[in-house]
Amino acid sequence: MDTQIHRTAVLAFIDQRLDELREDFGDLPLKIKAAETKANDLKAMYDETDGILKDIRTFCSASKITLVELKEKEEKLAKQQFLVRNNKEFDAITSEIETIRKEHENLSDRLRTEGVKQENLDRIIKEQKDNYEKAAEEFDSIKDEMAVLSGDQNEELNELNRIREKIEKTINNKNIKEYNRVRTYHSDAAVNVKRNSCKGCFSAVPPQTIVEIRNNLDTIYFCENCGRILVPEDIIVDDSTIDNL
Ligand SMILES: [Zn+2]
Repeated sequence: MDTQIHRTAVLAFIDQRLDELREDFGDLPLKIKAAETKANDLKAMYDETDGILKDIRTFCSASKITLVELKEKEEKLAKQQFLVRNNKEFDAITSEIETIRKEHENLSDRLRTEGVKQENLDRIIKEQKDNYEKAAEEFDSIKDEMAVLSGDQNEELNELNRIREKIEKTINNKNIKEYNRVRTYHSDAAVNVKRNSCKGCFSAVPPQTIVEIRNNLDTIYFCENCGRILVPEDIIVDDSTIDNL
């Protein structure tokens, strides 16, 4: 850990781990949004049906009262008809009774139609309620998953960022600049030489370069083919390296 190339290799390892952590989060925020929209849409459908049902119930109970009132009116007129003094009055009451009967009939018909509608909607709203509740549960469980993941992730992110900051300070400006430049092209900016090849692109590394890399551990060398920073074969960075920092 006391050479520039070793520190750069550690930096590269940390940055790759940070990339992975960000990827883990992946499409979860999108999934949450989709689940929320679905739950809201289903709830809106349920509410709409509920509103229609309420209107039907209000209409039905008001209509039942009206029907009774119409019946009473009709009976009252029928009694009056016995007391009329001439045909003209008699005909007038007959016509009025006729109108009331017609009204009664129409309202009864509508009441039956609304009754059938209500039965159908009662069945539909039950399904809509099940669907909405299922979607709401799904939304909650994705939210929980996200909370757990971000909790774990935040802990690791903070720790890695802390180590990264520490390591970065120990690498000289020139090398940091080179590292950042390579990072814009390759997520794995520093790779080991393995069996005389670059581990990033598998191109052969000239023997002379391999010797130079080994002898100048504070200088950065690049793969001639892919441009990645080359790390000597015996400098291994893994999770245990990070754990010890
Ligand atoms: Zn390469």
